[in-house]
Amino acid sequence: SPEGERAFVRTTCAYCGVGCGIAATVTGERSVEIKGDPDHPANRGRLCSKGTQLGETVGLEGRLLHPMIGEARVSWDKAIDHVARRFARTIAEHGPDSVAFYVSGQLLTEDYYVANKLMKGFIGSANIDTNSRLCMSSAVAGHVRAFGEDVVPASYGDIDQADLFVLVGSNTAWCHPIVYQRMMAAREARGAKLVVIDPRRTETCEGADVHLAIRPGSDVALMNGLLAHCRREGAIDPDFIDASVSVPDGFWEALEDGGDLWSVARTCDVPPADLKRFYDLFVANPRTITLFSQGINQSLTGTDQVNAITNLHLATGRIGKPGAAPFSITGQPNAMGGREVGGLATTLAAHMDFAPENVARVGRFWAAERMAAKPGLKAVDLFRQVGNGKIKALWIMATNPAVSMPDAGAVRAALAACPFVAVSDCIADTDTGRFAHVRLPALGWGEKDGTVTNSERRVSRQRALFAAPGEARPDWWIVASVARRMGWRSAFSYDRPADIYREHARLSTYQNGGARLFDIGHHAAIANADYEAMEPYRWGGTPFAEGRFPTPDGKARLVPVVQRPLAPPLKDWPFTLNTGRYRDQWHTMTRTGLSPRLARHRQEPLVELHPADAAALGIAQGDLARVATPQGESVFRAHLDEGQRRGEAFVPIHWTDRQSTGGRAGLLPRDLVDPHSGQPGFKATPARVERV
Ligand code: SF4
Repeated sequence: SPEGERAFVRTTCAYCGVGCGIAATVTGERSVEIKGDPDHPANRGRLCSKGTQLGETVGLEGRLLHPMIGEARVSWDKAIDHVARRFARTIAEHGPDSVAFYVSGQLLTEDYYVANKLMKGFIGSANIDTNSRLCMSSAVAGHVRAFGEDVVPASYGDIDQADLFVLVGSNTAWCHPIVYQRMMAAREARGAKLVVIDPRRTETCEGADVHLAIRPGSDVALMNGLLAHCRREGAIDPDFIDASVSVPDGFWEALEDGGDLWSVARTCDVPPADLKRFYDLFVANPRTITLFSQGINQSLTGTDQVNAITNLHLATGRIGKPGAAPFSITGQPNAMGGREVGGLATTLAAHMDFAPENVARVGRFWAAERMAAKPGLKAVDLFRQVGNGKIKALWIMATNPAVSMPDAGAVRAALAACPFVAVSDCIADTDTGRFAHVRLPALGWGEKDGTVTNSERRVSRQRALFAAPGEARPDWWIVASVARRMGWRSAFSYDRPADIYREHARLSTYQNGGARLFDIGHHAAIANADYEAMEPYRWGGTPFAEGRFPTPDGKARLVPVVQRPLAPPLKDWPFTLNTGRYRDQWHTMTRTGLSPRLARHRQEPLVELHPADAAALGIAQGDLARVATPQGESVFRAHLDEGQRRGEAFVPIHWTDRQSTGGRAGLLPRDLVDPHSGQPGFKATPARVERV
């Protein structure tokens, strides 16, 4: 803004999937005052600590401001030419499946759309996967199995009407603070009850009516037991089931097997009285929302766990009604936008799968040169194929897999051996960028312009506050420039994000064709209105309000899921290692690490242990402790906390080579995945802990 003028901009927070609206007042060249947007339905003026401190993170310290080939600064023209030639040559010599993109829930929807279109419609491979695979792909797989489509059946408005909140595997108070505050307001106003299911006692558990510190991985037993209990107590909704739910043969009989309260309490290792209190609260409160996040999703049985939850809500008719739904709350600001455009290797575009008619339809719409006809590699497999030499050119956008992938040491080895790695990022020095042959400077928050979709599927604008610094460019511009250089000029001739959004909207309508349940043609109506002035909007109304689901027979499905046997601890690896977030940090701290205020909450990475376990190892409060797994090891400062279960350890995910030599959680988890979703099981790695 001209000197002295204060520009007011409505935009969206950079961090989590709550998707809070921000009222920003630009006060100088790189300074801004941040307030919550009182008119944004997601947060109604509130912000958490991370959102509030966004103004401290907009400086240019550490930014990548020019294209780089190796350590040499080059022009955009040269950088684009280099990336285009390397990809074209690799495809010509080894075929389309020898290249891959690894993208991110930090991208805006428009960025995601263009990258997806280039890979799936023109390169001709579906090898584009996203770090959202690590975050919520089990929710996607569970939704598809239960509802026929990846639909989130809840909105934040439901929180205001629920009588019972069941939080499963979610430290909501720290990770989705504004959702948590909204639940607390409902408790205050109407006495809504709160049950927290989490092996750790976290801040979220404070004031809960019941906290069940279940044995990790016993969620299916807990939910199946609850469904059996509902059946015994007459809390099943037979009319809803008759009209709207298909029940496989033998479903109820299998459920009764081992579903009595005492057996469940033993399997889950919780006091039977607490379990009974939870079950009774569930039966007594039809307006129940079950919110779940990484504790459910980041499991080797994550999809089954999601379906144990959807089974409960379907069988009791607690879906499609105000204040009643299962609700997957997403981690990243735009994981949902990625899901909508098809930014996962397993979806095509606009929520379509790879059915031949969908491949043909999208191919027609894009005037595609070469359409991918089958799903591509999911994240863990993708990096394995980089490691074994099958992927020979990789482009990583807005994410840091050298830190965030499971078995990050193996991912580093794969990147080091890959013949060509391009990295688009706004940060100059990231652990992943160190493996790049070409680094492309992308815009950061406060410079980007486009849309994001939050956990309740509300689309909001993210708007630029500042001019692009140095030679940084939007991600969509970078991808489209490479696509044009590869020869696809007219398909990637976008001038501004509105052009891309309108195309995405048209594709949504095009695929809809009146045949599907949800009229996402609403997208088109909005897109054809003034993109610049777009107000936050949520499409889909109340999903399933009519009791119809997007399956061939219009019915949802109960999915038979059984509790997998829980293995006893291994002799050499007696601990179960859990990972998660701190309240005031975000992912690998490239942005939140810039804020001195946010650093105050937790200044270093801690390994949390039960005091009795620590005593047995000779570890005192504040000692250094080594955490080792078969994949790697790292040193953390010990924090003793009775809120840990015996035999378990918890470490934060945030620290990287940039900040410290210790506290490297990413080196520790195995790269095993859920068989349905491909999501890694970060939450339960066999580990050893010892005093340094
Ligand atoms: Fe940002 Fe999430 Fe905090 Fe809202 S709750 S201000 S979206 S980090």
